[in-house]
Amino acid sequence: MAPDWRSISLWTTQIDDTFAPRPSLESEIDVDVAIIGAGYTGLWTAYYLKTRAPQLRIAVLEAETAGFGASSRNGGWVIGGLLGEDRLVGHLAEPRRRESWALLHGIPDEVARVTSAEGIDCDFRKGGMVYCAARYPEQEVRLRAYMASLYQEGLSEDDFRWLSPAELNQEVRVSGALGGLYSPHCATIQPAKLARGLARLVEGLGVMIYEKSPVTHWHSGKIRTASGQVKADWVVPAVESFAGSLPPSGGTSLGRYQLPVHSLIVATEPLPEDVWAGIGLTRGQGFGEFSRQVTYGQRSCDNRLVFGARGGYRFGGRIRQDFTLTGDEIALRRRLFTDLFPQLKDVRITHSWGGNLGMGRRFRTHMLIDRRQRLALAGGYGGEGVGATNLAGRTLADLILGRDTLETRQPWVIQDRPVSEALRPWEPEPFRWLGYNAIMRSFTNEDSVLADPRTPPWRRRMAQSLSERMEALMTWKIG
Ligand SMILES: Cc1cc2nc3c(=O)[nH]c(=O)nc-3n(C[C@H](O)[C@H](O)[C@H](O)COP(=O)(O)OP(=O)(O)OC[C@H]3O[C@@H](n4cnc5c(N)ncnc54)[C@H](O)[C@@H]3O)c2cc1C
Repeated sequence: MAPDWRSISLWTTQIDDTFAPRPSLESEIDVDVAIIGAGYTGLWTAYYLKTRAPQLRIAVLEAETAGFGASSRNGGWVIGGLLGEDRLVGHLAEPRRRESWALLHGIPDEVARVTSAEGIDCDFRKGGMVYCAARYPEQEVRLRAYMASLYQEGLSEDDFRWLSPAELNQEVRVSGALGGLYSPHCATIQPAKLARGLARLVEGLGVMIYEKSPVTHWHSGKIRTASGQVKADWVVPAVESFAGSLPPSGGTSLGRYQLPVHSLIVATEPLPEDVWAGIGLTRGQGFGEFSRQVTYGQRSCDNRLVFGARGGYRFGGRIRQDFTLTGDEIALRRRLFTDLFPQLKDVRITHSWGGNLGMGRRFRTHMLIDRRQRLALAGGYGGEGVGATNLAGRTLADLILGRDTLETRQPWVIQDRPVSEALRPWEPEPFRWLGYNAIMRSFTNEDSVLADPRTPPWRRRMAQSLSERMEALMTWKIG
């Protein structure tokens, strides 16, 4: 069934775009690089390839319409970092460590540079990000420990700064907050404007985009869709959470390495200035509560609170397709944001949606080239792909072009190992599903036990210790 673009997210309702699909692939074509998927990964890769080597013939094959996946649905944080960066960068010797941090922290500025030079208005605001220790004292302890670990890995107050409750209030006024951690290395954007703008940009540079063209078979050098074929020197699968629905190639099923998890968001009606005066967020900051479970929010350019929280995993890695949220799903997100901002308890929620993202088994991002198979790919962004995909695009372009650059020399770049050796597969079912649910239950239990000030100390310790064990189990032996 054709997607109703107007209900994909708040972001797609805000842009003047018919979302009419570009033509499908109906013939046999021969290109230098074939990219599967027109989300940020595919489009940034096409952009950097085409700007660095304009002679390249590049085709992007998209199952639906450019931006259909997470790229038009996300929370809009452009993070100057990658999932798992601390484990990858922390152990590097200087000056490499400093260079890697600088490369990561520079991501928002690179997105700003390109979008401004190329005329993509995506409401870019570099206001930094704030993690709040909002609801119980153990959060403050954990957040301070996190900050200390970042300092041990070579970062400083310029990168992550502790905010007292009074300082936090200057950024965002969260009920009962005990403090917060601020980093300047983050911007917020209107995600669909970036996705749709990038598609138009690369098309203008001569990249061919075929839409409504799901790839049904692919192998090194060859791709088939329902009514077309592509011969390509290089293939770049850029489907992130959809990896499981891409057919296996040469015996390798990408879905084994990328678990689809969905995340859900709500947006309020535009809120008046006097309400915002009590909340803050005046500069386009991203904010989240420092729970072990995810929360993320921003104040949109039209003054809505956009708030995402929690997610879900479906048995067998089935992708969630229907993002019409249930009453309970909306109510949970309302409860979570009114815990932070009680004055919003009666505001209208006008939009709710969600999308799928991909999680690698090592909980870290990878950018990979296999020159034997003529394959380049990136993924495992977790919920942190908006900025990471820009770096991935630059990196994959350099790797394909055989350039030795700062980007290609990073610890998250894997060269010349097949996917099956380079990445760790997820456990088979039912272990994944049982594991996911046991871990999430322990985190939810921890939040509710610790948020109640009447809970006796022994129960607090038990809930926390269970979550710590679950977290350790999750990251056991992953390096
Ligand atoms: C609700 C939500 C909130 C998020 N919030 C943030 C955030 O605030 N900050 C952040 O950094 N990250 C966030 N993320 C993650 C971020 O959005 C993603 O990591 C990023 O958009 C991934 O881009 P991508 O191009 O790799 O994948 P996608 O944007 O998912 O694109 C993949 C494309 O591949 C296409 N495709 C699939 N199968 C095929 C096939 N067989 N043939 C051809 N095409 C195919 C799909 O239609 C899709 O267009 C969020 C994600 C979600 C879902």
